[in-house]
Amino acid sequence: MPEGDTVWNTARVLHRALAGARLTGSDFRVPQLATTDLTGWTVRESTSRGKHLLLRLAAPDDAHWTLHSHLRMDGVWRAYAPGERWSGRPAHLIRVVLRSPGAVAVGYHLHELALVPTAEEDRLAGHLGPDLLGPDWDAAEAVRRLTAHPEQTIGEALLDQRNLAGVGNLYKCEVLFLRGVSPWTPVGAVPDLPGMAALAQRLLAANRGRWTQSTTGSLHRGQTSYVYGRRAQPCRRCGTAIRKQELGERVTYWCPVCQPEHPSDLPPG
Ligand SMILES: [Zn+2]
Repeated sequence: MPEGDTVWNTARVLHRALAGARLTGSDFRVPQLATTDLTGWTVRESTSRGKHLLLRLAAPDDAHWTLHSHLRMDGVWRAYAPGERWSGRPAHLIRVVLRSPGAVAVGYHLHELALVPTAEEDRLAGHLGPDLLGPDWDAAEAVRRLTAHPEQTIGEALLDQRNLAGVGNLYKCEVLFLRGVSPWTPVGAVPDLPGMAALAQRLLAANRGRWTQSTTGSLHRGQTSYVYGRRAQPCRRCGTAIRKQELGERVTYWCPVCQPEHPSDLPPG
């Protein structure tokens, strides 16, 4: 699942493949960019902000532009050597191909694909809260934004990218387990929000540079999470069956014993 660390890794892959290169061709397969041709444009850098990917380019007239994309649940960028077989996904999912002398970058099932002046990047990513993996991570500002809506459940607040950028469903579930907080707890009743934000930042940072996401320290299959994806399996701490239930738009996983504030009238997950 693409969370902040996955997007950060993807940005690095694209940066290694394309930064400094002059594009020899482009092929956009989305209506809004169907007539766009980036041939002759130079890739300045690839970076991420929260879950948004920002590929910064210089046009032949040296104007600076940003190709924005979002992976949501299913998007992926791959970089291939010239002539290498594209093995990422079925061809009908390709949304853009960028060719350079040294690499071909292929974006599959990308969302919110847009080309905007770099000076206007904030139109697409400016609403985001502090980026957990950004150079400007600001824990105090993240806490300030979280506490602005004290009645919201912490499970929903952690996913709201306007509060802090980069947490997806996996890290949400895992952070709440590790802090012993029920996902249904109102933000205003959560003890030590700064500690929770700091833990989220550490977990994402620990998974930078690899594609396996682990919050337990183990990279073995089936042992990489405490609660996420473990419905009905025993809690690694207390042995109670992990529960799963809808919370807002996403399912959430939790241990009813280790995260005790869960309302008692909810049916067992
Ligand atoms: Zn437990």
